[in-house]
This record gives sequence, C-alpha cells and structure tokens, in this order.
Amino acid sequence: MHDGLIDLRSDTVTRPTPAMRRAMAEAEVGDDVFGDDPTINSLQEAAAARLGKEAGLYVPTGSMGNQVALGALTRPGDEVLCHTDAHFLNYEGGSPAVHFGLVMRQLSGEGGTIRADDVGAAIRAGNDHNPCTAVVAMENTHNAAGGRIFPIDEARSISKVCREREVGAHIDGARIFNAEVATGTPAAEWASCADTVTFCFSKGLGAPVGSMVCSTREVITESRRLRKRLGGGMRQAGVLAAAARVALDTGVERLAEDHANARRLAEGLLELHPEAVDLDSVETNMVYLNLSPFSKPGTQVSDGLRSRGILTLGSPGGAMRLVTHRDVDGDDIERALGALRTVLAESD
Ligand SMILES: *Cc1c(COP(=O)(O)O)cnc(C)c1O
Repeated sequence: MHDGLIDLRSDTVTRPTPAMRRAMAEAEVGDDVFGDDPTINSLQEAAAARLGKEAGLYVPTGSMGNQVALGALTRPGDEVLCHTDAHFLNYEGGSPAVHFGLVMRQLSGEGGTIRADDVGAAIRAGNDHNPCTAVVAMENTHNAAGGRIFPIDEARSISKVCREREVGAHIDGARIFNAEVATGTPAAEWASCADTVTFCFSKGLGAPVGSMVCSTREVITESRRLRKRLGGGMRQAGVLAAAARVALDTGVERLAEDHANARRLAEGLLELHPEAVDLDSVETNMVYLNLSPFSKPGTQVSDGLRSRGILTLGSPGGAMRLVTHRDVDGDDIERALGALRTVLAESD
C-alpha cells in the first residue's frame, strides 16, 4: 500500500522493492544494442532457461514482445488465429495490422481459451484467395477473461495441430507465472507448446519495466531486428533488467499470496450478493465484480471507492476489475471489502 491508497486497478502499479532499487543502483551495464550489457545478457539467458527455450530478448513492454514475436513468425498478409478477447487484438492499438500487415482471425471460447478442433478447422494454407494462417496465439493467463488459466491439455492439442499443419504458435504469457503457481505446472510446459512465448516482469512479478520474448536462437535474432525497427533497441538498460532479475528470482513463489488475496476478496464479495462474483472463474489474481445485482452505475461505485482510498478499473459489460499484487496485503483486502460493502449498499 502506498500513499494510503489501495490500488486494485492492475498488478502493474507496484513500486520497485528496496532490493530492486539496490540491484538497479549496482547493475553492471553496457550498450545493449551492441550486445554489451552483461545484466541484460544474463537475464535473457536465465529467462530462456526457465522457459526451456534457446534464447531470450528483453523488450520494454509486453506489447512490443507480442509484436516482435508475431512479426518474426509471419509475412505481411498472413493470418493470426486468436481469441476474440486477445490482448494484442484489443489493447495494443492495432499494432499487428499496422506494423506487420497481419490479419487477425478471431475464435471464440470460454474463459479466453481457444480449442484445438476450432483451430484445426480454421487453419488455411493460403491460395490465390485466402490469407495464409501463419500463427495460432494463446494467452495465459487470460487478461480479459479475468486471469483464467489456459488449460495445458488444450495447449498441447493445439501445439500438435500446429506442428502437423506447419503453423507457428505463440503464447502471450504476460502472466504465465501466475498460471505456474496456481497449477504447479511449470511455465516451461506451456512454453513447449509454442514457438514464441512472452512474459512481463512488470505485472505480478513486480519489476518497474520490461518483458521477455523466448524462442529459438533464429527467431530471437529476427525478433531483435524487429525490436530495433520498432525503436526498442535500448542502451544501458541493464539498470532496468537488474530489477527484472530480482523479480524473476524472488517474485514467482509469492504470487500465491496474490491468488489467496483475490480468493478472499471474491469470497467476501459473494457474502454481499450470490451473483457478485463467479468464484470458479477466480483462478489467479483477478476478480471481476458483477455490478448488475447492485443496480448502480460503475462510475458511482468507483467514485465512492476512490473517496475511500480504493482505486478500481471499470470494464466492459458492467463489471469491475479488481487485481491483487505485491503492494496489497491481507489487511488491505479487508479494508477494500469494508469499503465495497458500504458503497454497494448505499442508497442513491
Ligand atoms: C499487460 C499485458 C500485455 C502487455 O502489456 P504492456 O503494458 O505492453 O507491457 C500483453 N498481454 C497481456 C495478456 C497483458 O495482460
């Protein structure tokens, strides 16, 4: 908690820990465009090893990670199969179309999951008429679906279809370690289902800046070229990577606390109304509060919460997104529940 505020808008709002700030101050650096930054090189190796991939590339944002990965696996005019609610489709400014000339073909599915059968039926080889399907994209955990975990069996089936049909696979794993901690399945198991995987240091892992792309050496070489093209070639960025390293080394196991806090929050909300939350959908660190049983506009609820020091984010469809992270502890959750109880019960 900072400034007396409880910030439930996102897990991107955490401030660097004292250990991160020390690591940043002491980081050995070099010019990373020349490949000379030892802190970045070592972070890339550690991340790739953790995901069972040959190589990694440190990028400023998860969005740039998705872009360079998709760009490296495709040619302009190719098609990407993705879920209707995919992050890179809805929240990255149309970047795959603008930068790489890609066509997004959307598949629907419960909880942000696409199914191997649908993928198999949708893949097309490209001819005089159709775009060629080049990549199938999965998202784990799924942001817009409320932090849902992409089922590993479905990922394996999709991977099999992709290999058989010679189509690439990408995992937007911005929060892949939340999935690892929640299931006990190593992130590398999901990573083995895809050619490229991205993850964010700047979400629940708690670093101030940065994401990682992991893949084969060849794909990372191409991704590195594309990163430069997008203006993401950074110089002595080891000062940032040093904090990301602390996040990777010390931030994974503690995600379990965020999951427990999200669960406690969801259970508390259920006490207010049986339809306030779908408890089964709370798998990691996000809670989508269904406001419809309370018949109050979302802005009124969020304004009421803000005046009590609780920051929240509205989401489409009248839900309110509540995200737990390192800077929110168990006491904060109780305080937030108290405020929610008051604001949701208030008469107009
Ligand atoms: C946050 C996020 C990203 C990337 O976000 P940046 O803000 O660009 O770092 C990508 N995919 C998903 C699923 C995300 O939640």
